[in-house]
Amino acid sequence: MSEFKKLGLSAQLADVLQNMGFENPTPVQKEAIPLLLQNDPTDFIGMAQTGTGKTAAFGLPLIELIDVEEKATQALVMAPTRELGQQIGQQLKDFSKAVPKMNIEVVYGGAAITNQMKALKKTTQIVVATPGRLLDLIKRKAIKLGNVRFVVLDEADEMLNMGFKEDIDQILSHTLDIRSTWLFSATMPSEIRKIINKYMVQPLEVKIQSEVKSNKDITHQYVVTKTANKVPALRRFLDIQPDMRGIMFCRTKRETQEIADALGSMGYGTEALHGDLSQAQRDAVMKRFKSRSMQLLVATDVAARGIDVNDLTHVLHHKLPDQLESYTHRSGRTGRAGNKGFSIAFVNPREVRRVDELGRKINVDFQKVEVPSIQQVKSVRISKWANLIVNTEVDEQADEILSGIKEKFQGLSKDDLLKRLITTQLDHLIAQNGEEDDLNEIQGKKKEGKDRKFLRYFINVGTMDGVTKSDLVHFLSDVSGIDRKAFGSIELQKTNAFFELEKGKQSGLLQKFENIDIEGRAIRVNLDEDANRKKSSTDKQGKKKSNSRNNRYGGNHQGNGKKKVSRRDNRDRRRRR
Ligand code: AMP
Repeated sequence: MSEFKKLGLSAQLADVLQNMGFENPTPVQKEAIPLLLQNDPTDFIGMAQTGTGKTAAFGLPLIELIDVEEKATQALVMAPTRELGQQIGQQLKDFSKAVPKMNIEVVYGGAAITNQMKALKKTTQIVVATPGRLLDLIKRKAIKLGNVRFVVLDEADEMLNMGFKEDIDQILSHTLDIRSTWLFSATMPSEIRKIINKYMVQPLEVKIQSEVKSNKDITHQYVVTKTANKVPALRRFLDIQPDMRGIMFCRTKRETQEIADALGSMGYGTEALHGDLSQAQRDAVMKRFKSRSMQLLVATDVAARGIDVNDLTHVLHHKLPDQLESYTHRSGRTGRAGNKGFSIAFVNPREVRRVDELGRKINVDFQKVEVPSIQQVKSVRISKWANLIVNTEVDEQADEILSGIKEKFQGLSKDDLLKRLITTQLDHLIAQNGEEDDLNEIQGKKKEGKDRKFLRYFINVGTMDGVTKSDLVHFLSDVSGIDRKAFGSIELQKTNAFFELEKGKQSGLLQKFENIDIEGRAIRVNLDEDANRKKSSTDKQGKKKSNSRNNRYGGNHQGNGKKKVSRRDNRDRRRRR
């Protein structure tokens, strides 16, 4: 006998399930189906999340208990979002192939109400609805609830989060007093308890432990980085894992849009999904995500509810959620159907304790992983850029421009030219946004502050060039690609200046200035070795003022093929940011 038949379902329904590929009932189905079939009518609470098979847990008993000969709506299923409503409706329609006379309609906001009113004129035993639209239909007398015997509140916590409490109250007042109310929720906040106390009588209860705890296919990881570096860090994970297909969860709609836009503008396949998008926009985003034309969906928890994608390699957390259940709900979207998955939380040093707390409570070992370094992502970024070049259609104007500048490249072999292009691209890609090399932070501590150690440098730019200290820091940062925050004190003199740069950040600094000139004057940057030596020996005795030695820094520099970066250009560049 089929496992589903053993739960009390009819042979026809068991056959349909077999055809759908449902071989064994999931834990929530095993517990809920017999209870609901044997205790009609009854109130019922199911604590279970999306992905546990809860739709079938209530859907199959509904199909069995509804009298198809009765020409009236007998069951109402309420869901927080249109996507979830559609999924529930689809599953119920699939199950009801066993019962030809069964009619199921799904109604939701954001679509023409007239079509839904027309559809409901036909006998509809089960109506799946979002609360707002259902209330609208009740008010327009397009639906009669006088014969409703079953009310299912699916993802009840989410419906309350979305502000549907009053709508639900009103809807329930239109149904029979003697009815079965089946409530499913991933969490049990006090608001849900209030609903239970108000509308339910001695409910039977089934609680399904989150599958995440026992899902060995999910590896739980975290990285520690400054909040401001979370997106650059995420970008590096996207670089080193081009096959990644995942969802990044954010707390606010604004964050999702900002992150998706920032990454999108850098050429990554990312899009935002949140409640401020119109239904048509959300549908389009989901279509692109499902068709794999994007790598990462950046979503709020609410918007991501009801997304039914089973092959995600990663779930990323821009911030950890407040509720434990939300973490398990989020991470449970990966590691499905026997595939391996990663759940990576991006936390700042102060948020590390939340990871520890979460790990203890859900009994999961979080592994700390490092954000990849610039070195690790460099070649991937260059290779992406190379692909872009190879796949770029040549602009009509290119011929004409090329003939004008062709002779500049005479004498350069193809390899020479490519190497030079790569070098400029490296500057551009790596220096973009002044990205720091090491984005990892020390747990529980800030890297900034008293602990910072600096190296002192000389530069032959001074007040006579019309620069202020702030101009100089911007210039240094723009040319070197080093974050402005890595620079320490500046000592500005007439013809030159001394600046401090945090130890460990100096890689490539001197080379970056090798071919730079300001209005025809070559820029020189040198390490102030004497001062650095003295500084390290006197560090313990306190800070000592170093002498300026502008005469010592002769150095030779090339006059040919220099990049032109005049101060004005530089200011313009800053202004554009
Ligand atoms: P749900 O938690 O109801 O959203 O279900 C998650 C997914 O699991 C859906 O795609 C269902 O079609 C599928 N599913 C539910 N129950 C079973 C089962 N017993 N066997 C195989 N797949 C199932």
